[in-house]
Amino acid sequence: MRLPRFDYYSPNSLPEALTWLTEHRDPGIKILAGGTDLLVDIRGKVIPDGHRPRCQQHRRGPWSARAAAVEPVNCLMALSRVPELRGISLDGSRLRIGAMTTIAELERSPVIRELLTGLSDGAAQLGSPLVRNRGSYGGNLCNARPAADTAIPTLSLAGKLVLVSSRGERIVDHGDFVTAPGATVLESDEILKEVVFDIPDERRGSGYIKLANRKSLEISMVGAAAALTFEPAESGAGRRSGERGNIVREARIALGAVAPKPLLTAEAGEYLKGRKFDPDSAAEAARIAADTARPITDHRGSAGYRKMMVEVLVRRVLNLCRDRALTGVAREVNV
Ligand SMILES: Cc1cc2nc3c(=O)[nH]c(=O)nc-3n(C[C@H](O)[C@H](O)[C@H](O)COP(=O)(O)OP(=O)(O)OC[C@H]3O[C@@H](n4cnc5c(N)ncnc54)[C@H](O)[C@@H]3O)c2cc1C
Repeated sequence: MRLPRFDYYSPNSLPEALTWLTEHRDPGIKILAGGTDLLVDIRGKVIPDGHRPRCQQHRRGPWSARAAAVEPVNCLMALSRVPELRGISLDGSRLRIGAMTTIAELERSPVIRELLTGLSDGAAQLGSPLVRNRGSYGGNLCNARPAADTAIPTLSLAGKLVLVSSRGERIVDHGDFVTAPGATVLESDEILKEVVFDIPDERRGSGYIKLANRKSLEISMVGAAAALTFEPAESGAGRRSGERGNIVREARIALGAVAPKPLLTAEAGEYLKGRKFDPDSAAEAARIAADTARPITDHRGSAGYRKMMVEVLVRRVLNLCRDRALTGVAREVNV
C-alpha cells in the first residue's frame, strides 16, 4: 500500500485536539481513528487506470459511487491518545460509548450485549477480528457508509451523537448525521466525542441481521436492525409465565445498503405500534419496510434481490427482537 506524504499530529487530550483543529482549519487535515477506512481511502492507486473492475459493468445508481472523492490529505490528526474518547459508561439513565471504543470492545462488552443487543450483533458481524481490534465505533459512523454494520443498529436504537468543537457541544440524532454516502454534518473543526443511548425499558429487544456474500470480511448486501418495546403484561400470571404482553409499544426498524444512507423505515415502525405482535403483523411490517427500500444493482447483488431480502431479514429480525424482549432468550443470529 503506497500512502501519500502527510504530516502527523497526535494530541494528548480533547481540548488540545479541538484547539489544534480550530487553529488549522484546512480541508487537507483528516481525523485518524483506527485507520481501517481512512488509510485505505488515501492510499496511492495500486490498480492501474486502464483496469476495469467487473463491478463497473453493472448498472449503478447515483449514490453507489464512493461519495465525496477523498480530498488530497496533507495532515492526519490521530485520536489514539485522547483518553476522553474511550470507554463505555452508564451515566444515570444513559449509556455512553466513546467514539474511540473499538468494535471488538463493543462486541465483547456484557453491558452492550445486555442493553443494546442489536449493536452487539452489528459489532460481531463487522469485518474480521483484526479489523474489529483496530477499527473504532466512531470511525464506522463517521465514514458514513450506507452499509456500516454499527450504524444500522445505532439508528434503530435511537443513538444520539455528541459532536464537540472549541465552540461547544451539539447533539445530533443518528438519523440526521449522515447526509449522503460518505458525507456527514460534521464541521471541519468538530470531532465525534461519543454516542449516547437511553437505557432501554426491560421489555425491549433489539437485533441486527446482515446478509453478505461471505460470512466475514464482507460489506453487507442488505442489513436489517430493529428495536421493539412491548407493553407491560396485564396480569401477574402473564408475568410469571414469562409472557410480558405481546402488544408493541414502540418499534424502530432500520435498513442498511438499500438507500444512500442508513434508512429508518418509519412507516413499518408506525404500523407495528399498538398492534399485537404475531406472524401476520411481522410479515406486514416487513413488506412495508421492503416498499421503502431503494436499493441499487451492483456487484454484491441486484436491486430486486435486495428488496426481496429486506422483507426476509426484517421479518427475521423482528422475531428475534420479540424473543429477546419477551423471553430474554437471545437466539443465535444466523442468516
Ligand atoms: C478488510 C476490511 C473489512 C471491513 N469490513 C467491514 C464490515 O464488514 N462492515 C463495516 O461496516 N465496515 C467494514 N470495514 C470498514 C472499517 O473497518 C470500519 O468502518 C471501521 O469501524 C472504521 O473505523 P476506524 O477507526 O478504522 O476509522 P478511520 O478509518 O480512522 O476513520 C474513518 C472516517 O471517520 C473519520 N473519523 C473517525 N473517527 C472520528 C471522530 N471521532 N470524529 C470525527 N471523525 C472521525 C475519519 O476522519 C475518516 O473519515 C472494513 C474495513 C477493512 C479494511
